[in-house]
Amino acid sequence: MIQSYKKNPKLAEHYDTIIIGSGMGSLTTAAILAKEGQKVLVLERHYTAGGFTHIFKRKGYEWDVGIHYIGEVQRPKSIVKKLFDYITEEQLKWADIGEVYDKIIIGNKEYDFVKGTQNFKEKLYQYFPEEKDAINQHLDLVFAAVKASGKFYMEKALPSLLRKVIGAKMRKPFHEFSDKTTYEVLSSLTKNQELIKVLTGQYGDYGLPPKESSFIMHASVVRHYLSGGNFPIGGSSQIAETTDKVIEKSGGTILISAEVNEILIKANKAYGVQMKDGKTFTAKNIISGAGIMATYEKLLPESLAKKHSLFNQLSKVKRSVSHACLYIGLEGSPEELQLPKTNYWIYPSDLDHDACVERYLNDLETEFPVVYISFPSAKDPDWNRRYPGKSTIDIITLVPYEKFAKWEGSRWMKRGEEYNELKEKISNRLLDVLYKHIPQAKGKVQHYELSTPLTTQHFVNYDKGEIYGLDHSPNRFRQRFLQPRTPIKNLYLTGQDIVTAGVAAALFSGVLTASVVTKKNMLKKVLKQS
Ligand SMILES: Cc1cc2nc3c(=O)[nH]c(=O)nc-3n(C[C@H](O)[C@H](O)[C@H](O)COP(=O)(O)OP(=O)(O)OC[C@H]3O[C@@H](n4cnc5c(N)ncnc54)[C@H](O)[C@@H]3O)c2cc1C
Repeated sequence: MIQSYKKNPKLAEHYDTIIIGSGMGSLTTAAILAKEGQKVLVLERHYTAGGFTHIFKRKGYEWDVGIHYIGEVQRPKSIVKKLFDYITEEQLKWADIGEVYDKIIIGNKEYDFVKGTQNFKEKLYQYFPEEKDAINQHLDLVFAAVKASGKFYMEKALPSLLRKVIGAKMRKPFHEFSDKTTYEVLSSLTKNQELIKVLTGQYGDYGLPPKESSFIMHASVVRHYLSGGNFPIGGSSQIAETTDKVIEKSGGTILISAEVNEILIKANKAYGVQMKDGKTFTAKNIISGAGIMATYEKLLPESLAKKHSLFNQLSKVKRSVSHACLYIGLEGSPEELQLPKTNYWIYPSDLDHDACVERYLNDLETEFPVVYISFPSAKDPDWNRRYPGKSTIDIITLVPYEKFAKWEGSRWMKRGEEYNELKEKISNRLLDVLYKHIPQAKGKVQHYELSTPLTTQHFVNYDKGEIYGLDHSPNRFRQRFLQPRTPIKNLYLTGQDIVTAGVAAALFSGVLTASVVTKKNMLKKVLKQS
């Protein structure tokens, strides 16, 4: 049954714009269009709003799913901060997670990533005194790559004719960075494999190890967090809560448990959606933030997708890896348990990142190639007011979808003994890693629950449980169809697939899509108003 995100929504049959999915890209597009006076309907199939920014509650705890830290929002002049302020009318507040945002742990060695470019460099000089030049050159390239990104992404929002005329020139500097793998670039700066392993210690933020990922993705993540990490005060649910108020002001609304079955199209023009329960809504514009795979494979009539060679487009990109996350509830406040705010990235010491992934994919009993531990309750200054005497920890690792494929089609929470046993085994392995690094957590765990790729499929509709939408390989950034426009009139895309994974990138995707729909440079408008 379709439910509203609030108590008494005023529902209409027709809207200016309908947006499928309520992830960061969708909410941003919705809020910007609402501020342009549009009545927007956001349709979310999950029982809660936010896409990967949603939270869930169980046994008296609350966990954030797809936000552990966001960069740049503490700098008043940053575009990310200005965009968040714009779409939430400054209602969303952020807490700094401290001097050390990431701790890279390789075997028994620890490397802290400290905030501030100069501090970051100096800390690395201490670890690698012989490698000052490589450390400096690496950051120079990171900044140069990010500088080249602005025009590349803005080009996607230009009118089609202008794209044809000046597009290639705007994209060219970006491709000089995006065509190379992260490893290609780093190995041209240093032969020190430990340094390369440390510098790429955040690869889990986009899911592809250095020999496979595009350098542009590495650079954008490194740059994004250089001024530190931040967490939404009150938890990630505040993102949907605060944007919803803005959407509502223009008569729009967010509906939850509202699954779109099909996008309605006549004479190659999108004009509405049909819901799973048969109800239809119409609108001038239809925007999908459900991911390009789900949109083209599930929401369009097959004949139309074939006519426009959309499956051919999809065959040019790959789905990202899938993950498991252990959501843990503990007795004791974050202060009592002395939980850090810093994220821990834990890696095996014997092989490089790519070889660790390969070894693990060949034999899942071998050491996890990456274990990421995050302490959300310690990061949120509002946590103790809402959940006194309790704490939470999330632990993430890679798991291939294929390992769980045989339970596809089974019901959530009712997948059977064998599935539960596999989950228990992975949970215990992850708890062992936790106790090694946070021994005080032992004896304090009151609840734990493992999500698998099937959980991601069930709740967020990514078919193979992919964690970050599409893979961030060099090839991905060459695909010009990853943009707001589609070959179908009045049908647009938004979300991580048209920019990159990450909340800030999805936020930016919303600006691009809103710019295309309104035919206005919305980034310019936002920056001018702030
Ligand atoms: C475990 C994890 C940790 C992460 N940590 C961070 C982090 O610390 N920092 C960071 O910046 N990024 C992080 N990310 C990435 C970030 O959360 C995502 O890149 C971003 O939120 C994606 O936003 P999106 O707009 O593409 O929409 P998504 O969040 O992908 O949402 C798409 C929505 O569409 C809905 N939908 C799908 N099909 C339909 C349909 N037929 N009808 C209606 N609705 C539909 C889905 O239910 C979903 O709610 C993390 C992601 C994961 C999974």
